[in-house]
This record gives sequence, C-alpha cells and structure tokens, in this order.
Amino acid sequence: MARIYNFGAGPAVLPLPVLEQAREEMLDWHGSGMSVMEMSHRGREFMEIAAQAEADFRELLQIPSGYKVLFLQGGASQQFAMVPLNLLRGKGRADYINTGEWSKKAISQAKRLCTVNVAATSEAQKFTTVPERASWRLDPGAAYVHYTPNETIGGVEFHEIPETGDVPLVADASSTILSRPLDVARFGLIYAGAQKNIGPSGLTVVIVREDLLGGVANGTPVMLDYKVHADNQSMYNTPPCYAWYVAGLTFQWLKRQDGLKGMALRNKRKAAKLYAAIDGSGGFYRNPVDPQYRSWMNVPFTLIESTLDETFLKSAKAAGLLQLKGHRSVGGMRASIYNAMPEEGVDALISFMQDFQKRKG
Ligand SMILES: *Cc1c(COP(=O)(O)O)cnc(C)c1O
Repeated sequence: MARIYNFGAGPAVLPLPVLEQAREEMLDWHGSGMSVMEMSHRGREFMEIAAQAEADFRELLQIPSGYKVLFLQGGASQQFAMVPLNLLRGKGRADYINTGEWSKKAISQAKRLCTVNVAATSEAQKFTTVPERASWRLDPGAAYVHYTPNETIGGVEFHEIPETGDVPLVADASSTILSRPLDVARFGLIYAGAQKNIGPSGLTVVIVREDLLGGVANGTPVMLDYKVHADNQSMYNTPPCYAWYVAGLTFQWLKRQDGLKGMALRNKRKAAKLYAAIDGSGGFYRNPVDPQYRSWMNVPFTLIESTLDETFLKSAKAAGLLQLKGHRSVGGMRASIYNAMPEEGVDALISFMQDFQKRKG
C-alpha cells in the first residue's frame, strides 16, 4: 500500500491512525458485532460514541458552559442560511466582512434573508489582505457580525479575533477550526464543515451560545432551527453517524498530539517553512498574500510561468504529492496543510519545489 501526500483543500487528508482505527473497528465495533454504519443512532453504542466525541471536542476547544455543540448536515453552505434565519431575531440587518470567495457566498445567501451591510472588504486588494479592524463600519443595529477567519481559496487568515462589543460574532471556521486554541467565549456562533480539519464530509459542527437559540424567523423549516437540534442532542432526525464517529476518532488523535497547543506549534512551523521556501525562490514561486495574514492551512502559490503548471502537477504526482492544483477561480497551485498533513509531507513538497526549480528555473 502506498499512501500519497494529499494537499487537497477538502475533502482532505485524515490522520493515518484515525483511518487505521476505523478500519480495525469497521466490521465489529467494540464487540457489538456491527459496523458503526449499521447501528441505530438511538442505540446504546452510538449514543456512547456521540457523547464521547462531543466531550472530546469540548475539551479540545475548552468550550465554556452556556454553549451547545451541534452535529448537523448540509455543509457550511447550509449555515450561510441557518445563521440569518436563527440569529436575526427580528432585527432584519446583519454585518458581513468580505475577505474572499467564502465570505461572498455567505453574503449572497444572507442577502436573500435580510439587509446586509458589508462593513469591510478587501476586494479592492484582490482579497490578499484583511481590512484593519479600525476601518470596519459596523452597524450598531446589526443582529450579528459574520466573518471568515480563514479563506480556504485565497489563503488569507485572521490571526486575531476581531472585537465586536455586544453584537454576537459569527465565524465560518470550516478550514481553521482545531488548528490552534480558540477563545470560544468571544463568539456567538462558530460553524465548520467537517471535511477540512475534522473528519469526513457530510458533517457540520456548530457551536452556539445558548441565549441565541429559540428566536427563529417565522416559516423556517424545522430542520433549519438550531433549537430543535439542540433540544434533541442533534438527533431530531438521523444524524451523519459514521462521519460523527470518525470525527470522534480525530478528536482523540488530537488529544494524543498534545491537543490544540501542540497542533498550533506544528501548524505554524509547517506554514512558516513553506512560505520561506516560496519567498526564498527568487520569484520562481510567489504567494500574493500580505505576510501578516497568510493562512496556516491553505497556501496558494503561482509559478513564474503558468505554462509550467501542467508539468509541475505531473511531476509532483509522480513524486507522490497530489491535489496541488489551485482553485479554478484563482489558478496556480494551492497546498492545503491541515492538522493531518504530517510535517514530512511539507518537507517533501519543499524539496520537490526546489528540485523542480533547479530543473526548470
Ligand atoms: C469548504 C468551505 C465551505 C463550504 O463547505 P460545504 O461543506 O461544501 O458547504 C464554506 N466555507 C469555507 C471557509 C470553506 O472552506
């Protein structure tokens, strides 16, 4: 068996020990005689798996009491709608910060449901930076402020949590959650599709402050009401059981890596090496992002000539380095280096890039 280094943005690499454990437990989970895929979500076994995953997730992020954790479906994209439907609470206005492609999608969905104030945007800088907090024009009557801590496509990341006073802060943390410790108490709501840094696709994790539950807009479908899911421990209907279970294995793996402090050290070091290699290439490779806001998770880069892209991807593949093609909207390359990407994978990419430059530069 040959495992490659997978730099895909999502679905993305999972920790090898997690996959091995899932394989080990595939046919017979802990003597139950069943696969987790075959269990009733209301049975004792799955209830135990679900509760353990939530407890581990809470421990990793040190989630304070007063917050619910929900295990939902529909992806981060469904949260683009659930957030306004649940959090507007009669206000009809919300602030959004626009730092790239995922912010734009959240904004376009919110515009169908309320008046959106784009309080700050880096569109004029082609989304290569984050607008200074002091320049944001927040609406004091907004129901919440929404932002995207890490733009998965542009590779732009906030390294600090913006202050929004009493207005609840909402974050689409899909591609950065669990990459480092996070002060959850600063947020009204955090959501993340699982397929970047948590587990398989099909699961979306939501952390929501309890006082924000229960004010859903009239006519909202039951399945889009956070309170319904919160009141039913995310089992109002059949949850994504297997994805929830694999997420739980990932949480246990993270705990064995010295938790999020350990991950943060490793992630910072992995990203720093890769950016240093790009910046040190004399312009052969380039990353356009303001160094202050470069992502630890998604590193886009271009080659000196885009005509080299195809050869680069082909040779990278031959060297066991896959899914490096950049997003169709920006071109070039993108190396996603989530928690589960081992440091050796980043080292292998860097030596490949240096070798490729020697041959083609
Ligand atoms: C991947 C991604 C999404 C979309 O997630 P889906 O689960 O496919 O809906 C939204 N926001 C961010 C920041 C992402 O990285």
